[in-house]
Amino acid sequence: MRAQPTASHFVDGAYLEDEAGTPIDNVFAATGEVIARVHAATPAVIEAAMASAVRAQRVWAATSPAERGRVLRRAADIIRARNEELSALETLDTAKPIQETLVADAASGADALEWFGTLAPGLHGESVPLGGDFAYTVREPLGVCVGIGAWNYPTQIACWKAAPALACGNAMVFKPSELTPLCALKVAEIFIEAGAPTGLFNVVQGMGEAGAALATHPATAKVSLTGSVPTGAKVYASAAAGMRHVTMELGGKSPLLVFDDADLEDAVGGAMLGNFYSAGQICSNCTRVFVQAGIKARFLDRLVERTRAIRLGDPTDPATHMGPLVSYAQRDKVMNYIDIGRREGARIAIGGRAPQGEAFEKGAFVEPTVFDGVTDAMTIAREEIFGPVLSLLTFETEEEAVERANATPYGLAAGVFTRDLARGHRVAAALQAGIAWINTYNLTPVEEPFGGVKASGVGRENGRAAVEFYSQLKTVHVGMGRVESPY
Ligand code: NAD
Repeated sequence: MRAQPTASHFVDGAYLEDEAGTPIDNVFAATGEVIARVHAATPAVIEAAMASAVRAQRVWAATSPAERGRVLRRAADIIRARNEELSALETLDTAKPIQETLVADAASGADALEWFGTLAPGLHGESVPLGGDFAYTVREPLGVCVGIGAWNYPTQIACWKAAPALACGNAMVFKPSELTPLCALKVAEIFIEAGAPTGLFNVVQGMGEAGAALATHPATAKVSLTGSVPTGAKVYASAAAGMRHVTMELGGKSPLLVFDDADLEDAVGGAMLGNFYSAGQICSNCTRVFVQAGIKARFLDRLVERTRAIRLGDPTDPATHMGPLVSYAQRDKVMNYIDIGRREGARIAIGGRAPQGEAFEKGAFVEPTVFDGVTDAMTIAREEIFGPVLSLLTFETEEEAVERANATPYGLAAGVFTRDLARGHRVAAALQAGIAWINTYNLTPVEEPFGGVKASGVGRENGRAAVEFYSQLKTVHVGMGRVESPY
């Protein structure tokens, strides 16, 4: 199985190679095969990418917003037309099941490009009457934005960052995660095919070092990172030193509160989606599931029963529900958390092992795992695991549940299942999170803003809110009378 790209980087409208960069092997974690090798960007590649983005941004900023919108919408159409091919690549890049990638990755990227493409012509300032004098505001692009991606949604992350950035008249240099270098290159190709100026969306490969070099480059106006909290802290600090704008989409340890009156099957389904989709490698997952005492036993029974039916296996098989984790290192990290959970006294209700048998021998698989009897102090209830590990906690009252749910440095997402309308809204209001779902979980359509509070991030992706993070206002005050001066 090979997925070797034409070259490692995509700069100024074409593939670019510099073999002097450290080689990075792309390993398909279902089989251990090396499916591609790219090279980390050398300083020369980074300079070329930044210089070409600076040039492209000038052209793009002078392009009419209607035309910018057309380019983005054409890119969306091309992505949709090539969904199958892009999904197959996404599955190779991430080892996520094709059943998911066909509906969740390129499709969501296309939605973002279409939506921001439609919004682009309407992005402008306003006029401010001042009784004689007046002012107007101009919504200006920031300049060259750097996007740095995590490995769980490589196509979606590239598009969620590029769509608002380009709609607002910026250029972007994007560095994918070193674990998933392939998908963003396709996005770059597609922008060219859609008619974007060369250099408007460049992709350079590399590890954290390349990300840091881009984030601190003198031509960088903004950094948008999707990644872990420790990386976010570093990138945010370096951006502060250069007074650059940021968007930080970071990790979480999100709570789901299931009340006695909830629809049991929906609540179980929500908890499973929010823990097992993408083998649990989703930042907004509800890894702490708080269930009210009255429904707890029934909830656990159904959760275990439905978890048993999850088909783990070859991610390229359309029947597979759950593939391996992205890498063997991630598998080891998750297995280590499972051991810690056991040692600290949580009870495994199902899963907890690397699955046995020939089909799993070479892959980074972990069984979907449910821990029961988890307490707030346990490591598995406090730290982000980023794997298919659900922790079940029990509560008695709403007040107690909300307080415990909020007792975390994170604040990305939260959820509540209840049939009581007032309680649903009350709990959503009280939970400290950038997004809270009532009677559903992990839906992130492009129309609604997405992002975290507390340690989970700064800024918002998607929705109109994203525009505020990719543009700035210039105020022009027009004097209509004589200048009154005491001098
Ligand atoms: P990571 O923090 O290890 O890496 C993220 C990216 O940052 C990678 O491209 C990496 O090369 C780069 N990087 C590392 N050090 C850097 C530095 N010093 N300067 C600049 N760039 C640097 O995260 P990961 O392991 O790839 O992804 C998993 C994490 O991402 C989890 O914590 C998860 O919750 C989070 N995540 C958040 C969201 C969200 O939208 N909030 C979405 C997906 C993943």
